[in-house]
Amino acid sequence: MPMTQSPPFAAGIDLGGTKIEAQIFDFSFNRVTFHRIPTPQTYDALVAAMADQISWVESHATGLPLGIAAAGLIHPVTGIALTANLPASGKPFPADIALAAGRAVTYINDCRAQALSEAQFGAAKGYASALCLNLGTGIAGGFVVGGALLPSALGLGGEYGHFALPAHVVQAHALPIIACGCGRSGCMETLISGPGLARIVQHRTGRSLTAQQIVALRANDAAIAQCWAIWCDLAAELIHTLSLTLDPACIVLAGGLSQAPNLVDDLTQAASKSALRGYAPPPILMAQGGDATAARGAAYAAFLERGRA
Ligand SMILES: [Zn+2]
Repeated sequence: MPMTQSPPFAAGIDLGGTKIEAQIFDFSFNRVTFHRIPTPQTYDALVAAMADQISWVESHATGLPLGIAAAGLIHPVTGIALTANLPASGKPFPADIALAAGRAVTYINDCRAQALSEAQFGAAKGYASALCLNLGTGIAGGFVVGGALLPSALGLGGEYGHFALPAHVVQAHALPIIACGCGRSGCMETLISGPGLARIVQHRTGRSLTAQQIVALRANDAAIAQCWAIWCDLAAELIHTLSLTLDPACIVLAGGLSQAPNLVDDLTQAASKSALRGYAPPPILMAQGGDATAARGAAYAAFLERGRA
């Protein structure tokens, strides 16, 4: 377990579908220590586990700013959670955690936390604005301007995976329009998430491969390489849409699919083709925060929130 002599300054809890990791950070937001437990699969056990992790934080230092980063949305009026990978949908999850833990917590979408962390401490440090794009089992991100997340009225800003697919790319490659987990059809996420890449390959070649296998095969298999090029074109269209909407100074890639070798080069090339004539796409960078990034962003968000209070 990494230990430094720096006193605890803020804490973050990364709540994922399989593990809950509590992390304590020092004044420079370097990780001091952490504690990992599996994610329970029922709501009551999940709330209790979150309270346990908060107790663990409190046992190191009481009253630290404490942020929770988790996938999904919290409705700003009702406080009700909407999440695909936790048994918390339809519940007032942040309020129940605060009640069980007996203290206030900051609750932030994990991709927004990651964006904040990368802008403040990671790949986008020094850029006037940064858009962080998480390419994983889903597609989402966050947009940071001047070190702070862009205010979002309903918390929806960053759910980029649910933009509609670009018609000209769908038509050119006869791609399928698939029902999305969000209730709509033909969302970007259905084809450019990890499972989406697998769907492109299944549709075009009839082969059932995981995203990881596809990434490994693309150099030596022409049919797979073609599917990868289509995936890059779709992802480039997402970058194009985001560039025209937010005009970020850089784009930071995170998530499982971002680990594909040469992704930055492939996407930069595809994005250059999609961009408006005479305008280069923003620099595309790799996230630097590693395992700690979402928890660090949540801890930083909690620190900022306390400063505003
Ligand atoms: Zn969708």
